[in-house]
Amino acid sequence: MTEKPIVIKTPAEMILDSRAARARGERVGLVPTMGALHQGHISLLDYTRQHCDRLVVSIFVNPIQFNKKDDLEKYPRTWEQDTARCAEAGADVIYAPDAAVMYPAGFQTKVAVGAMAQGLCGAFRPGHFDGVTTVVLKLFNAVRPHLAVFGQKDYQQLKVIQRMCQDLDLEVEVVGCPTVREPDGLALSSRNVHLSPSERRQSLCLYKALSRARALAQAGEREAAALIAAARREIESSPLARLEYLEVVDAETLEPVSRLERPARMCLAAWLGDTRLIDNMGLD
Ligand code: AMP
Repeated sequence: MTEKPIVIKTPAEMILDSRAARARGERVGLVPTMGALHQGHISLLDYTRQHCDRLVVSIFVNPIQFNKKDDLEKYPRTWEQDTARCAEAGADVIYAPDAAVMYPAGFQTKVAVGAMAQGLCGAFRPGHFDGVTTVVLKLFNAVRPHLAVFGQKDYQQLKVIQRMCQDLDLEVEVVGCPTVREPDGLALSSRNVHLSPSERRQSLCLYKALSRARALAQAGEREAAALIAAARREIESSPLARLEYLEVVDAETLEPVSRLERPARMCLAAWLGDTRLIDNMGLD
């Protein structure tokens, strides 16, 4: 039988819980999420379960990382299903603070990473990564995890958080797990529920574009412009997809690269109707 995780609603209680776990000599692992849990999230829980004694899942739809009000309002919320999934995955704690607890009146601090957070999604979602790094640092301070696990699906987010940890001397190991996809290749995302059937069909062009670029790179193509052109053609063949950006970047610094000499990644964002999807893939 799966035991129900305990639900903690305030940083003060979360700190006490983790302090007790650490005093027992347990290794604490954290998986930050915004809920609407799918198999991509569960893969992070499974990884963390295997590498920690106490598994904490945070569920918090973080208002300060949304740069559009309607995106925040229509973000799917599935609390009952999420708690059942956390129980099934062996979570010990669900940390689910309210926005008023996280950001009480008078709150005025933010954590901002530099250049790495400015390109790619950062260029199109002003303030987004400041919201992410601020909430993640708050989660780290409350949960005090030894290990925190994120998805490579949000590759820039993963790298920005690793940068923050290094820059601010945080004692947290940050690991990125591979992207979990639908059988046809679409990356799982909580926002996929908003796709109409025709948008869902055409959304496949994103995975096809990335796979095409990777195949070309593996066959020896070194010029980023050639990889971008091939990927762009795949996406342009799907009339419902509107490309926001498509770039080849250094896998560590996220700086644009023109020739593949070190590990590189193709990253993209595209709109299908009113739904914005992101995806990325290593080119090696
Ligand atoms: P979110 O709830 O969308 O903020 O995502 C919470 C965590 O799950 C982040 O670290 C995401 O990168 C990760 N994640 C989201 N989708 C996937 C996926 N398809 N595969 C692996 N990890 C994912």
